[in-house]
This record gives sequence, C-alpha cells and structure tokens, in this order.
Amino acid sequence: MPGQAIRLRGAVKRYGPITAVDGLDLDVPEGTCVGLLGPNGAGKSTTMRLLTAQAIADEGELEVLGFTLPRDSKAARAEMGVVPQLDNLDTTLTVEQNLLVFTHLYRIPREQRREAIERALGVANLRERRGAKVDELSGGMRRRLLIARALVHRPRLVLLDEPTVGLDPQVRQELWALIDLLRSEGTSILMSTHYIEEAQRLADTVVVMAAGRAVATGPPTALVAEHAGREALEVYGPPARLREVEADAQTRGWSTRRTGTSVTILRAEEVDGEGPDGERRAANLEDVFVLLTGEEVA
Ligand code: ATP
Repeated sequence: MPGQAIRLRGAVKRYGPITAVDGLDLDVPEGTCVGLLGPNGAGKSTTMRLLTAQAIADEGELEVLGFTLPRDSKAARAEMGVVPQLDNLDTTLTVEQNLLVFTHLYRIPREQRREAIERALGVANLRERRGAKVDELSGGMRRRLLIARALVHRPRLVLLDEPTVGLDPQVRQELWALIDLLRSEGTSILMSTHYIEEAQRLADTVVVMAAGRAVATGPPTALVAEHAGREALEVYGPPARLREVEADAQTRGWSTRRTGTSVTILRAEEVDGEGPDGERRAANLEDVFVLLTGEEVA
C-alpha cells in the first residue's frame, strides 16, 4: 500500500478570533494529485503555510513525507517543492540564475547543479529563454519558471498554491499539462485552487474546503454522483418565477442551487414528470461546490 505524502489530523490554526483552519483532516497518498477546492477565505493558503511550517498549527497532528511538523519541518522542506501564489522571482536575474540560486539553497552538489538546472528548464519548456531576465518574460513563462524553480532538487512532493490564478485560458492549459506530467512521473501533488475545471481535470481526489474544514472528499466523479446525482435541470425565468420554483422544490424535498439567472434542480433524474420545464444537463463538480459551500463560482 502506498504511504501518505501528507497526513493531517485535526489541524487547527487560529489568528486571534479567526479560526482559519478548523480541525482539518487531509491525506495525500504518495504519487497522487489532491486538489483543495474552496472559496476565498476557506483556509487553503493557511493549510499550505502549515505544511511548509511558515505557520505553526495550534492543534493537531501534521506529517509530511513521514516527517512530523513542526519538529522536522526542515527535513520535510528539503524534499518538497513549493510554488507560491505570489510571484517572488528575482527580477534582476535571468531565468537560469534564478534556478542556480535555488540549487544552492537546496544544497545540490556542485557537479550536479548544471544537470538539475537543465532538467528543470526542460520540464518547464524554458530552455530557449534561459538567458532572459525575468522582467522580459510573459506571465505564463514566469509561472512556469516558478514551477521549475520548485523542481530543481527533484522533490517527492510539490505544493502548488493557486497555480493558474489570473492567467489566460491558453496559458492555464500549458500549466495543466506541466502539472499532469509531474504527476505521471510519480510526484505527489497538493494543489489549491478555486477553479472548478482545474480540480476536475487534474486532481485524483478533490477536498472541498469551507470555513477551515474538509466538507467533502473524493474523486471528482464520485463527489458529483454522491452530492449532485447524474442530471441537473436548469430553469430560467424572471426572479419571481425562480423563487416560485425554489419554494416548490423545497416542499417536494428536491435540492436546488441558484445560478444568477436560473435555478438548478439537482438529481433531476429522480424528478420525473413533476418537474418544471427547463434544460437538462449532466451534473458537475460546480454543482457540488455551490451546494456545499454556498458560494457562486466566478
Ligand atoms: P484565498 O483563496 O482568498 O487565498 P484561502 O482559502 O486561501 O482564501 P486563507 O488565506 O487561508 O483562505 O484565509 C482563511 C482565513 O484566515 C481568512 O478569514 C483570512 O482572513 C484569515 N487569515 C489568513 N491569514 C491570516 C493572518 N496572517 N492573520 C490574520 N488572519 C488571517
């Protein structure tokens, strides 16, 4: 049985009166990609900070790559790569120099540094831009460099905090391919995101987070089947009509979600004959997200 790259039990992190992480259980089995999916403020970034020991948990058990945190966080950090949400590249240096700095930080022996840099440049498809100053790179290239930088020491585990936030769809696809490649090579990955599609495409297991807790955990298709069923029925109309549909659904015990200009009835396959007119479609992870977190998706 594979081991756990990450194992959290009852992790709690408080900031004064705010409990950012509130009794979180989280497992990342080795060689899998787990996606933390949650709305703003759900506690995703704080969870990432606990795992890198940038923040220290008030309660709970935390293990990363078999090391206990915070006691052995240095040893854990040596075998993990961290891709922060905010770009903190050194803009005065070139692509290659940024990577070189990290080969030193990770204490890669001198004779292996060149090869490590070449490999990281190759994975991130940045070989041709090695001499460019960071300032001269596009947003997508900068983000690929951030990922490359986290890979120079061949980490067993990579943490990606909102890897594609603010990027256009084409660049996002490129990064997805890169993350997928990492996973196919056996690297364990924990990724936070608030993009449903990103979680659906990349994660073997999705953990839906709300208010510092895991409110649902499972493979994306299993979560959809469990919480939203097979089909959704979208009903459009003016606000008064939508309120009527919601009220009616409530009396009949059907679960619904609001989508701006429509109401969606979930598990529509169980609503035969009596349902209102609308468009049927396959249920999806967004339905689960909205149902469990009460948040609309941008
Ligand atoms: P986002 O997607 O917006 O980054 P998130 O899911 O990553 O959201 P966190 O950044 O972990 O959420 O924040 C969880 C809660 O903890 C929020 O209410 C936030 O304001 C609070 N919080 C986070 N860091 C701190 C801090 N250093 N001091 C005080 N409060 C904090």
